[in-house]
Amino acid sequence: DDADVNPSVSAQGSVLGSWGNKKWGDTASYVAKKKLQSWFQTSDGNWELAKILSITGSESLISFSEEKVLKVSSDSLLPANPEILDGVDDLMQLSYLNEPSVLYNLQYRYDRDMIYSKAGPVLVAINPFKKIPLYGSDYIEAYKRKSIDNPHVYAIADTAIREMIRDEVNQSIVISGESGAGKTETAKIAMQYLAALGGGSGIEYEILKTNPILEAFGNAKTSRNNNSSRFGKLIEIHFSETGKISGAKIQTFLLEKSRVVQCTDGERSYHSFYQLCAGAPPSLREKLNLKSAREYKYLQQSTCYSINGVDDAEEFRVVVEALDAVHVSKENQENAFAMLAAVLWLGNVTFSIVDNENHVEPIIDDALLNVAKLIGCEADDLKLALSTRKMKVGNDIIVQKLTLAQAIDTRDALAKSIYSCLFDWLVEQINKSLAVGKRRTGRSISILDIYGFESFDVNSFEQFCINYANERLQQHFNRHLFKLEQEEYIQDGIDWAKVEFEDNQDCLNLFEKKPLGLMTLLDEESTFPNGTDMTFATKLKQHLKTNSCFRGERGKAFTVHHYAGEVTYDTSGFLEKNRDLLHLDSIQLLSSCTCELPQAFASNMLSLSEKTVPGPLHKSGGADSQKLSVVTKFKGQLFQLMQRLESTTPHFIRCIKPNNSQSPGIYHQGLVLQQLRCCGVLEVVRISRSGFPTRMSHQKFARRYGFLLLEHVASQDPLSVSVAILHQFDILPEMYQIGYTKLFFRTGQIGKLEDTRNRTL
Ligand code: ADP
Ligand code: MG
Repeated sequence: DDADVNPSVSAQGSVLGSWGNKKWGDTASYVAKKKLQSWFQTSDGNWELAKILSITGSESLISFSEEKVLKVSSDSLLPANPEILDGVDDLMQLSYLNEPSVLYNLQYRYDRDMIYSKAGPVLVAINPFKKIPLYGSDYIEAYKRKSIDNPHVYAIADTAIREMIRDEVNQSIVISGESGAGKTETAKIAMQYLAALGGGSGIEYEILKTNPILEAFGNAKTSRNNNSSRFGKLIEIHFSETGKISGAKIQTFLLEKSRVVQCTDGERSYHSFYQLCAGAPPSLREKLNLKSAREYKYLQQSTCYSINGVDDAEEFRVVVEALDAVHVSKENQENAFAMLAAVLWLGNVTFSIVDNENHVEPIIDDALLNVAKLIGCEADDLKLALSTRKMKVGNDIIVQKLTLAQAIDTRDALAKSIYSCLFDWLVEQINKSLAVGKRRTGRSISILDIYGFESFDVNSFEQFCINYANERLQQHFNRHLFKLEQEEYIQDGIDWAKVEFEDNQDCLNLFEKKPLGLMTLLDEESTFPNGTDMTFATKLKQHLKTNSCFRGERGKAFTVHHYAGEVTYDTSGFLEKNRDLLHLDSIQLLSSCTCELPQAFASNMLSLSEKTVPGPLHKSGGADSQKLSVVTKFKGQLFQLMQRLESTTPHFIRCIKPNNSQSPGIYHQGLVLQQLRCCGVLEVVRISRSGFPTRMSHQKFARRYGFLLLEHVASQDPLSVSVAILHQFDILPEMYQIGYTKLFFRTGQIGKLEDTRNRTL
């Protein structure tokens, strides 16, 4: 079903324009005359093949699915490709490049388990939601030997390795797509190939073992994906000069912390909690005072405790094995599990009112005592940290008691901090284990697996950040595939009709501009003493109302016109989430703990807060640490990421989710089309095809084919030789362009020359 496709996304066809559907007017009568197949859109929005029987005026009489006959407007028909083109492996090869033809071609392949297709330079991967026999050592070997050339993740990874070695340039594989589209699986498949080709040192085994660890602690079951990554990930795999893997480095982005303390029904919190509860051996259970998952309030918020086909206890063993592989000591593993248990027990801490001003204190029970024991502090200190807050007034420190709501916030903030610090700590341990030796002479291939564009019924701070990240990535994509392409033509003096594409700079400006952009205004409001989500929303409307990518909405909401469609954000919780404050009282509590991890977390947080942000102090946090806001930190991370990606040769993989029920064999045209539009796949094909994708310098061309000339050329300069070759082989003038330095060819033109050359050699 289509229920969770946001209508604003589905309706955004008009944003991008329905490319390729225009020229039909010219060909309609031709197709009709020839009684060719055409596409016709049924009332449910699906496209069906139809035969044109006759045309009268602007109307066509068509027959479709088993001799149904209908009179329709000719404008509503689109040409279909001849059968011989059914299932071509690169969409560029289609004669008619319109939406139904692309959808049909991908579906044709999908139905035959050919889930990978090319869209010019981009690999399109459609999630099969079942095991398909396209992987493993035989396939890896075949792609390595190039005995198969069907589109595949392996082929992309192979190209990346070859280009890294040939050009001595770092490479990147950028994987994008909606939640559940298959990004993480695709990243693993790419890693598998790199590990197989660059293996030998044993480090490749460790690299593959990082996946179960990161998935346990950073993935959760959501309504879209039973194994949804709740963080972004970049893994940089280093190769020595001999092409062997020498190490790797992982960077993660923006873990969804809120899931630790709240979770919608039908979804789960992080896998790690359920795995620990189900799989911990008896001795560990006893040490951590573990109960079953159902006993913990944080997990009770959803009635879902298990995932079909997943054995959490078995997964726990897999994670432990993986932790062993990346050299996390048994002691540290236990410390990490203690933190998980502490978070679970924190959720069970309850409060009672202790005075007539509604101030509360935690009840001293098992939960509180367990937390104190697990993190290594006195129960009284924990009690104090959860019920009071030190404030600086003038030169004095006063102690303020907390109300129930404040105490719960404090407790949840502590739980979220412990969990996210634990996640970062794990990544740090992994990186230590995978560290590249001191001699970093080789090159690297980075794989980016980052959350795709999100648009739900209610969109909050998380979607705001995720969609901003996607705008940045989209710009990177645009820049490479469109701008660089066009610039090259222009530089070489080629007359080439520009292909329009959506430039998203305006939207990025809306986010990033200073002083009046979404992020600056959010940061400003976050530091204002009296700032609320409402005052934030009002400020946005006041300052941004003339921005074409922005629209104020009723109440606390606003809409952003993203490249992939409009998204309305509800500002509830924006300021709180952006501040992401852990009160100094809690940090001090952690640093006073006798256990190693809480201490490490606290010192990490304190060292971060030393990087103070200039600006007004947070009022209620006179004694709080000042730290970078979440959006500012995230923006910094993204800039760094973009810089890194810019210095690499990118390879793009677009993952597509064919249905919303995670089922095999179901191909929902509307859903696929919406995703193809969102990520610009259709424009890429058009630009690649309408351009001159094959290029060769005059010199190279003359050198490569000059010996095939039958007649002597008077002038031996490369350009004259090249022109003579073009004439001899009857390459049509519209099939090539001669630039200042290079020759540009349309697809397929070089073939004839290469054939002759091979026969002659
Ligand atoms: P994303 O990371 O984009 O949210 P995942 O990579 O987690 O999505 O994929 C979601 C699910 O889809 C996986 O758990 C798996 O069941 C299925 N899946 C994805 N790609 C493949 C594939 N190539 N072969 C088989 N199943 C796949
Ligand atoms: Mg994922």
